[in-house]
Amino acid sequence: MLVTLVGNCCTWTKNLATSYIINDDIILDVPQGSFKTLYNDYCLDNVKYILISHFHSDHFADLHLLVDVLARQDKKYVIVAPKGCRERLYSLFNAFDVPHLKNYVEEKFEIKECENGKTFNLGKYKIRSYKMTHGSLDAYGYVIDDDTIKVGFSGDSCMCNSLIKIIKKSKAVFIDTSNIQKNLKHLTIDEVKTLSNEYKDVSFYPVHLSTLTLPLIKESGLNETYQGQVIEIN
Ligand SMILES: [Zn+2]
Ligand SMILES: [Zn+2]
Repeated sequence: MLVTLVGNCCTWTKNLATSYIINDDIILDVPQGSFKTLYNDYCLDNVKYILISHFHSDHFADLHLLVDVLARQDKKYVIVAPKGCRERLYSLFNAFDVPHLKNYVEEKFEIKECENGKTFNLGKYKIRSYKMTHGSLDAYGYVIDDDTIKVGFSGDSCMCNSLIKIIKKSKAVFIDTSNIQKNLKHLTIDEVKTLSNEYKDVSFYPVHLSTLTLPLIKESGLNETYQGQVIEIN
């Protein structure tokens, strides 16, 4: 499986790699600013599936722009997202004065809602959604099985049972590494290091790096990640 870190596209810091292209047909998360990179630096012709982890702006806010450009192709798409995606997407259309895009969504986009443990069979992929703990939000992580390998994506999450399930099922995990201090929304770099020592057969790729955690990645011994990086998992 090829995982491209579209990355860096967030207002808050320079290094929140929260958007991915998986192989060439899945996009996972569309943070604010990510569309500029997706549209200008990547070919989106083969994209079929869009996965959304949750509705914070650094994961979701450019979805209306992606829908706009994909809808110009004569194709159908599937969006997998937490409950309420359609209403939030339509709110973006209204906010930005493009209400006609609702018609494209009705015509070309099937929206499927996540549930904890629910598996979506999409073409060659089996994609399982896991409800994570990210404050009180409805946030999901995913394990994507492309028929050769399983790769996990934590989305935003603190330490929780779903995270351990994702790690145990995956050959590699792209994992929220935002924080230094323990909290109920994100993982700390020490927690990610502990997990990587415990699950040695799994490759850990820290993402959602903050100004606090980025300088510590090198000395932590964890894999370094950066915008535009293409990682082959096999
Ligand atoms: Zn979040
Ligand atoms: Zn986030």
